[in-house]
Amino acid sequence: MTKKVLVMAEIRDGELRNVSFEAVACAKLIANGGEVVAALLGDSVGEMANTLIQYGADRIVKVEHPDLKGYTTDAYQQAILQVMDVEQPESLVMGHTAIGKDVTPRIAAKLSAGLVSDVVNVELEGGEPVFTRPIYSGKAFEKKQVEEGLILVTIRPNNIIPLERVESLTGEIDSVQVEIKDLRTVIKDVVKKATGGVDLAEAKVVVAGGRGVKSAEGFKQLEELAQLLNAAVGASRGACDADYCNYSLQIGQTGKVVTPDLYFAFGISGAIQHLAGMSNSKVIVAVNKDPEAPIFEVADYGIVGDLFEVVPLLLEELKGA
Ligand code: FAD
Repeated sequence: MTKKVLVMAEIRDGELRNVSFEAVACAKLIANGGEVVAALLGDSVGEMANTLIQYGADRIVKVEHPDLKGYTTDAYQQAILQVMDVEQPESLVMGHTAIGKDVTPRIAAKLSAGLVSDVVNVELEGGEPVFTRPIYSGKAFEKKQVEEGLILVTIRPNNIIPLERVESLTGEIDSVQVEIKDLRTVIKDVVKKATGGVDLAEAKVVVAGGRGVKSAEGFKQLEELAQLLNAAVGASRGACDADYCNYSLQIGQTGKVVTPDLYFAFGISGAIQHLAGMSNSKVIVAVNKDPEAPIFEVADYGIVGDLFEVVPLLLEELKGA
């Protein structure tokens, strides 16, 4: 059966996040030949509508309102519900990001819809979508199907391949006016911590350090390596707890979940809670002094050695390249 599927695109720092294009690809599959409508929420969404069409959305709805400039739960929830009311889709797809994780359960509860979260793959069986998602902290995968009614889906970044961009594609661009009221939270100002720039959740390469890195100074070397590899820096909770780096870098069960093409683990033992956030990375390289460290069980390449010898060698090699 063909379906109308709505995508909630995500914007960060004035740019569309990659997960928006992945969500369009996922929506195309679920729609099974039906219409994919992508909604862009913000105070002014400018040219981003044309970009989304080039990635395969059939139609765009711009939802512009001053209260949508930054994410707040109340404003986004109200706006999304109003867009859903106008569009009446059979399914909604968003990224399994901080925003998607926060707002979709609320929308699902308001609309009594089924919610399948953290999806890493979608297939059609008899024209109906079957979603694959990790369970038991990534140790196993389950397949889920929603038998009837509205389906809400959040997709894990970096797992569903976006459609190739076709610059000649055009499509309809509409606007939906929304009314936003009774906000309990208002963003007055955003003060950002200066970071390396590559978004950890969407990075293709992650350079992560653990307690074995031993100091904040040790993390500087990892930052240098990350810069050379156009990678994001990540960390174990051990490293965050020891104050070697900020908690925003924590990867794992209680941190961020990443699925890069290449994951470096320097001085990380590989506790189950850490593996929950990175074990689905495509290629894992572990450097650890302890040959028995559990990280080697998930690593594709392992170096039993001192990271303070291995990292300088890598830096030297990359700088010479
Ligand atoms: P350690 O376990 O201390 O390992 C350090 C490693 O560095 C060792 O394997 C050692 O051999 C190696 N090493 C030391 N020196 C060197 C050197 N010079 N060269 C090479 N290797 C060296 N952890 C997370 O990461 N993310 C989470 O989200 C998370 N959530 C948790 C939730 C709960 C409820 C609980 C109970 C725990 C959670 N943890 C989480 C903590 C987790 O159990 C581990 O304690 C933590 O991951 C350990 O961090 P680590 O590997 O950096 O440190």
